Amino acid sequence: MSSDLLVECRGLGRDYGQHKAVDNVDFSLERGQVLAFLGPNGAGKSTTMNMLTGCLAPSRGEVGICGIDLLEQPAAAKARLGYLPEHPPLYPELTVDEYLRFTARLRGLPRKQLGGAVARAKQRCGLTREAGQLIGRLSRGYQQRVGIAQAIIHEPDLVILDEPTVGLDPNQVREIRELVGELASDHGIILSTHILPEVTATCSHVQIMVGGRLVHAGSLAELEHRPVTGLRVGFVH
Ligand code: ATP
Repeated sequence: MSSDLLVECRGLGRDYGQHKAVDNVDFSLERGQVLAFLGPNGAGKSTTMNMLTGCLAPSRGEVGICGIDLLEQPAAAKARLGYLPEHPPLYPELTVDEYLRFTARLRGLPRKQLGGAVARAKQRCGLTREAGQLIGRLSRGYQQRVGIAQAIIHEPDLVILDEPTVGLDPNQVREIRELVGELASDHGIILSTHILPEVTATCSHVQIMVGGRLVHAGSLAELEHRPVTGLRVGFVH
């Protein structure tokens, strides 16, 4: 696998019994790209994200993260990526600082680097003033910032965000999209969404999934010029 690519994925698939939840997914991500997996509910986006992060074993296929085979060297590959799941396990009774120090420790950062890593993640995610607040007292938008801060705490090459704006109000959606745009200058980003405007607002490339398969892959400009058959996406926001 090429080390110039942040992600290289070939023939990825996952079955549940007889059901092919994801099948034959091929794609790559280069530095500087923000790639969306767009598709309706049940298209296979979360299943794909979970396989890319090593949380779910594929039934077939290969995943390379920064040239490292995720299946053969999972710890080394996972160290290069940060992940915001659709329902992140935040701890409402911890302060922002406590939670970020905890996640930094989970990521294996040495004790003497914790303070700097936490300060950097808070600054980048607009959380400096919220440092001492309990996570349970924050708005959904700020909780999502905390989720993104934990995903970048170890300065990964690749950041994977599963439905990052679901459940947010329009202002919070705009702010999180701006934050994703800012992060894109330093990280390759993959996000999943069922909202087309999310893609046009934040992404350079898009992969459209329907029924577990990719039906379109390319830049946003290519999508505009090539209507995609079989796509039923909710055009909201
Ligand atoms: P959503 O936007 O609703 O999260 P999605 O595009 O992320 O949808 P997935 O959650 O990946 O879709 O689901 C893809 C398919 O796999 C669906 O048909 C779903 O029912 C099935 N599926 C997902 N997880 C499981 C599981 N643990 N057991 C059985 N089937 C599953």
